Amino acid sequence: MPTRFDDEADVVVIGAGIAGLGLCCALARSGLDVLLVDARKGPGGIHRGDSLVPRSTRLLAAWGALDAVRAAGAVPIERIEVHHPTRGLLLEGPLVPDGVVDPYLVLPHADLERVLLAEAMRLGRTRVLRPARLDDLVRDGAGRVVGVRLATREGALAARARLVVGADGQRSAVRERLGVEVRRGSYDHAYLGLEAERPAGYRDALRLHLHPEGGVLVMPRPDRVGLGVLVEAGSGPRWTGMPDDALGRALAARCPLLAGARLLRGRSHVYELTWSHARRYVAPGAALIGDAAHTTNPTAGQGMTSALGDADALAREVGPALVTGGDLDAALASFERRQRPINARLVRQADLLARLYAWRGPLGDGAKVLFARTLGSPVGALLARGLTRAFLVPRAPAEDALARGGASRAARSCADVPMRRPQRSLGRDDAEPSSPPAPPAAPLLPLAR
Ligand SMILES: Cc1cc2nc3c(=O)[nH]c(=O)nc-3n(C[C@H](O)[C@H](O)[C@H](O)COP(=O)(O)OP(=O)(O)OC[C@H]3O[C@@H](n4cnc5c(N)ncnc54)[C@H](O)[C@@H]3O)c2cc1C
Repeated sequence: MPTRFDDEADVVVIGAGIAGLGLCCALARSGLDVLLVDARKGPGGIHRGDSLVPRSTRLLAAWGALDAVRAAGAVPIERIEVHHPTRGLLLEGPLVPDGVVDPYLVLPHADLERVLLAEAMRLGRTRVLRPARLDDLVRDGAGRVVGVRLATREGALAARARLVVGADGQRSAVRERLGVEVRRGSYDHAYLGLEAERPAGYRDALRLHLHPEGGVLVMPRPDRVGLGVLVEAGSGPRWTGMPDDALGRALAARCPLLAGARLLRGRSHVYELTWSHARRYVAPGAALIGDAAHTTNPTAGQGMTSALGDADALAREVGPALVTGGDLDAALASFERRQRPINARLVRQADLLARLYAWRGPLGDGAKVLFARTLGSPVGALLARGLTRAFLVPRAPAEDALARGGASRAARSCADVPMRRPQRSLGRDDAEPSSPPAPPAAPLLPLAR
């Protein structure tokens, strides 16, 4: 029986995390009507990172959302420091290379979601429906996705869309309904995330304390510091059940900076880690972005970066086709051709960096000390440049063009596409308590040159 639709939009986005919100911002200037759906009542309440590398801040600036991110209290970080408990300061320098004007910013994840949601609604025609959960995809007789069935508090609702985007995270229901397979792997390490009062000797920097049993990353938060402690996979209960003084001693042994600092454990958590990559990103009438398409080990701090990169690439490819009535499937294919190799490389690179960083024991410790010292030496310049290019800085236009390979020549920035219809009033949205702190994650070792 044909579905009776209760709502209609140009694009339905399932998932209001960074990928879904980024897509709404990226599509904002196109004037397309976007229905953003999320199972959560409001922003926050989800464990995630907070590092926005220059590659990400450049996109936010292009969409017109960066000023709001700064105004929300994002802290700029300009320096990286690598310390060792017995060998002292191994490496110190600028985090962002000379000539890169885009900042490295840190903002708690819940605040970032709040700001991007407000910006998506301010800049474009984003309507929000939450809490609402994807029940199923609606297909036409040819198998093309033409809408979604949603479960809302008020009951079932069907929405028609020309494009359905799965931005619904690593357990993506959209991906599962599309029957897309995923390659995945796990790690022998996990991250303990918590916060501490700002130690007296700390100045804002991405500060890494190497240790043979697992390093500690210290990142600034407006009135405290965020800590990411590398621990054994499956050791969560041991860490979260440890009394304050024992945990304080264990952390100070790895990171002397923390000796005497009061730990703020209210919302501490241990994150088990995986990598994954979907075999396909698109199907007729549908696309996957962000963690729904791929996840990386957070050591490299690339999850939000690649989610925002996907959002930008998808908007560039499908925006013009949706506005002008062009060939949507060709645009979707072009998005996959462009973005999948970029993400495959990122998953691999993040995996390598994570395995090096998580290499414990005296041998791993020695290798990391050598690596950090090499990065700081004149011969390490090439290595450092490679790392910053892989994880931090915006891709050069030539490199971007190369990555796009066969991508549609017709694809333009959505900023070039004339607005189609006037803005109209927006949908439902409730606020929710802020999220537990995620351990800070960031590209750990690059030293800008
Ligand atoms: C501990 C940790 C630290 C990290 N640190 C960093 C960092 O510093 N920098 C960085 O770049 N990345 C970091 N990451 C990764 C990054 O946070 C994620 O890769 C990124 O946020 C993914 O965003 P997303 O929107 O794709 O997915 P998510 O944030 O998972 O959002 C998915 C959304 O979909 C909704 N949803 C799911 N299923 C449904 C459904 N059936 N119906 C409706 N809605 C649904 C969910 O409620 C959610 O809001 C970190 C990750 C972890 C775990």
